[in-house]
Amino acid sequence: MSEAVRTTCAYCGVGCGIRATVTGERKVTIEGDPDHPANRGRLCSKGTHLGETVGLEGRLLTPMIGKKRTNWDRALDLVAKRFKETIARHGPNSVAFYVSGQLLTEDYYVANKLMKGFIGTANIDTNSRLCMSSAVAGHTRAFGEDIVPATYNDLDAADLIILVGSNTAWCHPIIYQRIRARCEAGAKLVVIDPRRTETAEEADIHLAIRPGGDVALMNGLLQYCREAGAVDDDYLAAHVAVPENFWDELGEGNDLWSVARACDVPVADLRRFYELFAATPRTVTMFSQGINQSTSGTDQVNAILNLHLATGRIGKPGAAPFSITGQPNAMGGREVGGLASTLAAHMDFAPENRDRVQRFWAAPAMAEKPGLKAVDLFRAVGEGRIKALWVMATNPAVSMPDAGRVREALAACPFVVVSDVIENTDTGAFAHVRLPAAAWGEKDGTVTNSDRTISRQRALFAMPGEAMPDWWIVKEVARRMGWKTAFSYDRPADIWREHCRLSTYDNDGARLFALPGAAQGGNAAYDDMKPFRWGGDQTFADGRFSTIDGRARLVPVAQKPLPEPLVKWPLTLNTGRYRDQWHTMTRTGLAPKLARHREEPLVEVHPDDAARLGLVGGGLARVETPQGESVYRIVVSEGQRPGELFVPIHWTDRTSSGGRTGLLPRPLVDPVSGQPGFKRTPAAIAPVATRWRGFLLLANELDERPACLWATRVAVPAGVLWELAGNGDLKCIEALLPRGERIEAQDIARGTRRVAVVTGGRLAGALFVTESGELPPRDWLIAQLSAPDVAPTLLAGRAPGVAADRGPIICVCFDIGLKTIAAAIRDQQLADVAAIGGAIGAGTNCGSCRPALARILAEETSDAA
Ligand code: SF4
Repeated sequence: MSEAVRTTCAYCGVGCGIRATVTGERKVTIEGDPDHPANRGRLCSKGTHLGETVGLEGRLLTPMIGKKRTNWDRALDLVAKRFKETIARHGPNSVAFYVSGQLLTEDYYVANKLMKGFIGTANIDTNSRLCMSSAVAGHTRAFGEDIVPATYNDLDAADLIILVGSNTAWCHPIIYQRIRARCEAGAKLVVIDPRRTETAEEADIHLAIRPGGDVALMNGLLQYCREAGAVDDDYLAAHVAVPENFWDELGEGNDLWSVARACDVPVADLRRFYELFAATPRTVTMFSQGINQSTSGTDQVNAILNLHLATGRIGKPGAAPFSITGQPNAMGGREVGGLASTLAAHMDFAPENRDRVQRFWAAPAMAEKPGLKAVDLFRAVGEGRIKALWVMATNPAVSMPDAGRVREALAACPFVVVSDVIENTDTGAFAHVRLPAAAWGEKDGTVTNSDRTISRQRALFAMPGEAMPDWWIVKEVARRMGWKTAFSYDRPADIWREHCRLSTYDNDGARLFALPGAAQGGNAAYDDMKPFRWGGDQTFADGRFSTIDGRARLVPVAQKPLPEPLVKWPLTLNTGRYRDQWHTMTRTGLAPKLARHREEPLVEVHPDDAARLGLVGGGLARVETPQGESVYRIVVSEGQRPGELFVPIHWTDRTSSGGRTGLLPRPLVDPVSGQPGFKRTPAAIAPVATRWRGFLLLANELDERPACLWATRVAVPAGVLWELAGNGDLKCIEALLPRGERIEAQDIARGTRRVAVVTGGRLAGALFVTESGELPPRDWLIAQLSAPDVAPTLLAGRAPGVAADRGPIICVCFDIGLKTIAAAIRDQQLADVAAIGGAIGAGTNCGSCRPALARILAEETSDAA
């Protein structure tokens, strides 16, 4: 066994440190790094199961031109030639890169430099545009620079933590555990979210706000603070520029009752929140996608920043606004300048910045102005204005809003390059050239997390097949385009040092983003780099901001009118994430345990809407928007607001027949940041009747999705599970079973058919279908895929004499289902989450399921009462 390597988690912006010990060929054990400041040894379920995702299944391992394998020279020559030809014929604005928060900072730096300094356009945008660009725009408007002024340490010092538009318990679980610890020490938690999520359930106050009402809520709070004497006039006088008429305009229509009505929340709850805020100086307001992913995202961010600036709650321990990022290196991309709206190293396109960066890079063709942001970029592809596109480490055919249009654009684009880890992605299907990139576990470089901590990501394995790091791929294309000297990097450390030098170049302190000293070390220093935070632990403690006059800005923002429901689209569709999945499941989809929490894409609907529209829990429903339609399994949930639907973003065309959410949102964006408004799409829903439903369990992957109305796939131990429903003949589904000895049972009265296929004494596949009867729970059958012998009760779907339904898996670390937990609470009279852990182990490893345990405990306790 080799020594543990200190590296960083591949998933979210918490940026947890990992100790990874390679134990064999593509095998690694994962544990939290106790010395990393972001997580202090803890990992959530996704990080804990990273070791299950490092296999080579589905990897792209050779460069491909069309459907043919090729070598690197031919592939790189072709990419360089086509980009050069396109630029020569149509100008630099006819090409674009669409990159990703999955790239390391070094990858980002090289791609940004090539596009903005050498090709001469700023048409490089990133999927981080979809995640946090409104926060970037809001910070820049208020502080003069894109600075996140908080750190995780502020959570430990806060007396009030407000989570706005953030299901932190699911999406940033390690931060959430830190918040819980602080709340257990006495801090109060307020959650502002239209949905009663697991995060909201544990809050002291939950405001189930009408979607889009955030500016009204925050402006009302600021007005309340002013009237309650909680505005810090001294701080404003010394450090903040307040536009004329700011307070007069703010005061209009912001009384408690008007705000409660606009936001559709009880006045009493709103008053409690306002009083709590006004009385609690140490406040951290944390926000994420619920704020950013809006057509008013930047205004919503500034409404929060206004509040903190006006009350002087910034630059002090436990007092700051805190934007948390979704992706592992969204922040590194921001530092590099890898958004179309920024130039480089926290500089914009002002003439002096262009001149400075041109000198530093010795650039022949500097971009003159911001480039196309993601939605506009793909629109330009569709309109034929972009004729050569390079997509790196992301899957826009699934993840962009109105993804159907994005597919049409990709299909029509004369030249598409995709560099990716995965062989078959929805976007890769449109590529003329595919380039095999290094994956987590092979990459070497740096990432920056949500609290500005830069950490090393270190390689654990040799590069498989012909895979190469993204920075190498980009610099090889740049060299072939004629810029050999400017792209003569041999290793990531070379790029890192240049990135650090640019951050301090001609920087007299005007730009807070600076990495002084970091450029001095040699390769060994880079290899040994410990996590460190730039910008200081208490940013803006001196009250000086990155504006010309050093003052922050209060930005006047007004609540936009919220639209009334439309006749054809009477509901509002919200999209988001599941606790144990990540983006389009290309990586988490490889970890069978992570699929057990949610095995299918569900549409959550309020009971009143369900009753009115004939929707039954467990049935199927078609969600329709003006952009497209998808089918989901129905969950009736009191946690939804009436009139609103929620669906997950994770399933793609390759893993479902109808649950592809990217088809549904509108391509409408925030006018300042260009971030799409994923959270509020007019929609309709209707039940879908099918003649039969069932599931197909297979030891081996299928080449294609089963041809029926509903088919969704997840990985399970030793195989895959497809949930199915349809109206047609079963013959084509049954034909998907492997060859082997068949065992069959049929009940014509119920329309039930069960088939198992055994090869070499082991279960190779099973199809269970019914028209009107019950289907067995999947757990025991899934376990049979790994069993050495076939059980005689295989077609019963359970072990002899055992009813093995554990219910949906809640604790993925110890594989414990809801029914097991509920039984333990009842039988052993367990009184709290710790007692559940003591009795059956649930929640004692990563802790991601603790909010769910608390909810089950509350339900069981109230049932018993
Ligand atoms: Fe990874 Fe979970 Fe930490 Fe996010 S919270 S970085 S997913 S371990």
